[in-house]
Amino acid sequence: MRILIVEDEPGIAGFLKEGLEEECFAVDVADNGREGLAMALSSDYDLLVVDWLLPGLSGVELCRQFRKENTQVPVIFLTAKDTLDDVIFGLESGADDYIKKPFAFEELLARIRVQLRTPFSESSLLQAGGVEMNLAAHRVACNGKEVSLTPKEFALLEYLLHNKGSVCTRSRIIEHVWDIHFDADTSVIDVYVNFLRKKLDVSGCADLIETVRGVGYVIREG
Ligand code: CA
Repeated sequence: MRILIVEDEPGIAGFLKEGLEEECFAVDVADNGREGLAMALSSDYDLLVVDWLLPGLSGVELCRQFRKENTQVPVIFLTAKDTLDDVIFGLESGADDYIKKPFAFEELLARIRVQLRTPFSESSLLQAGGVEMNLAAHRVACNGKEVSLTPKEFALLEYLLHNKGSVCTRSRIIEHVWDIHFDADTSVIDVYVNFLRKKLDVSGCADLIETVRGVGYVIREG
């Protein structure tokens, strides 16, 4: 899952990027409202975290303009403003949730997880075949046996499970699992799928990820 953080305070932006990358998200950062809006509109992000007070364009205005083009991608506001009017104003501009500064990273993470739930996953559990991924506990089990994954393997499996039943093209996988600084050599995906298959094979789940020749990969329903 790829997240865009729009935050002008380098300390907070860096802390969030680092924390979210540890949680296996791909993370890009913009330090002003205009760049943030341009990035949000030109890349396929899964979620935006937007500070309220930004140079260039305010977070509220960014959100309003983004919502004219995109009504799907969740937006979470970071705000020091906490009067009821401000909160309503923020949500009316098209944000899905907000969090007051200062906040605990764990709370932001929990709110991000809520926004990223699919209609099929009411909890933080993703499941297919014999494989179970617990996002909150950061664990993967295959036929009941724990599988140890690297952050990138985890992120790739999470993306495929999240889109269970749909074919994920190579370019979509790159957009959602790797960040903007990655040069788009999609053969790296094949390498990581092989790593994943080998690890899952040990517990009898080698067939989970199917190759769709010339297109990408899919995890089937069931
Ligand atoms: Ca700010």
